[in-house]
Amino acid sequence: MSELQRIAEELDAADPLAAVRGKFVLDDVTYLDGNSLGALPAHVPGRVEDVVRRQWGELRIRSWEESGWWTAPERIGDRIAPLVGAAAGQVVVGDSTSVNVFKALVAAVRMAEQDGRTGGGSERRNRPVRDEILVDATTFPTDGYIAESAARMTGCTLRPVAPAEVPSALADRGGRTAAVLLNHVDYRTGRLHDLPALTAAVHAAGAYAVWDLCHSAGALPVGLDEHGVDLAVGCTYKYLNGGPGSPAYLYVRRDLQPRFDSPLPGWNSHAEPFGMRSDYAPASGAPRGRVGTPDILSLLALEAALDVWDEEGVSVAAVRAKSLALTDFFLRCVGAYVPDGRVESVTPEAHAERGSQVALRCEDAGEVMKQLIERGVVGDYRAPDVLRFGFTPLYVGFADVEWAARVLARTLAG
Ligand SMILES: *Cc1c(COP(=O)(O)O)cnc(C)c1O
Repeated sequence: MSELQRIAEELDAADPLAAVRGKFVLDDVTYLDGNSLGALPAHVPGRVEDVVRRQWGELRIRSWEESGWWTAPERIGDRIAPLVGAAAGQVVVGDSTSVNVFKALVAAVRMAEQDGRTGGGSERRNRPVRDEILVDATTFPTDGYIAESAARMTGCTLRPVAPAEVPSALADRGGRTAAVLLNHVDYRTGRLHDLPALTAAVHAAGAYAVWDLCHSAGALPVGLDEHGVDLAVGCTYKYLNGGPGSPAYLYVRRDLQPRFDSPLPGWNSHAEPFGMRSDYAPASGAPRGRVGTPDILSLLALEAALDVWDEEGVSVAAVRAKSLALTDFFLRCVGAYVPDGRVESVTPEAHAERGSQVALRCEDAGEVMKQLIERGVVGDYRAPDVLRFGFTPLYVGFADVEWAARVLARTLAG
């Protein structure tokens, strides 16, 4: 046994989350793609079967009340809330991340417009209108596409800016920025952006901060309430293990909820959904972010999946500590096994700047990943040249990490 294998064994033996792996359906494959699709928690199929056979099959329409279907978006939002540092009543689950980016961004611009009309007295009146949206220039494409459309619809200009440049871009524009859409963790490089500082900079410029938490929720502390984030969205099928296409969530800070003017005001967000009125009147609180009938099967699979967070010893802090240890150990093993110059990590060394994945730039990355998958190490490939390995602390162990690095080195050796 090599030195690194021995260290992996020790780290696994001392891992307070080691037993949680048994709560998931896994096999011999080394699964390092939980940042794309989380693994299946073992109890979910039974719960989904109950939802289908009993709640739908037997209770039928009674389940909207009796099985809690109608209130599931807010109820499950309150399960996600503590994982992103939010008090209850501010998170609602439904629709995809793409759709929630649209809701949040348009609503943020509308709040900024409203500030321009009502707030700030004479000083405010002398200011230029807020007609610009800043978007993370390195964003996952869907956020950028949606932001472009949201900008066009609201009469704003969209300006792509690297997250680190946001403070200076805000200053440049002299108070014209309405909203800023940022990713907490970069999906390609795994870089963790400074949410507290960037949110403070956005606020200092009088704009609204919309954060996409797809690659941070369930992997590291977010602190939405603590840092005064205005609006946030994220998906639930990555580190939250909600299943393929499980619905996303929308956070609207409590004091902003009365001003949240949804661009998609469906009947589910009406103050009186069964009043069947022709005039729209928004519900108060988190349900204001709903649109139409929720996708109950996916939603309740997600609810079951979140039970993992109630297991003994499972907490965001414990997950973060293990995540950093896993990524550190992976980088160490890659450094030891892979010949110099074959890969280059684009994931920051500093813990304060690292999410829960490691991205390695590599020649022929697409082909290399194909071979890794054939050898039972599943990560993914992001064009043009990145091998991406996601480390879900709930079910990835240190022996997996050492093995993956060893297989990578072997694969690169040809
Ligand atoms: C995964 C991911 C999405 C996915 O959006 P969907 O609407 O669920 O397809 C969006 N944005 C980011 C940053 C992501 O990482």
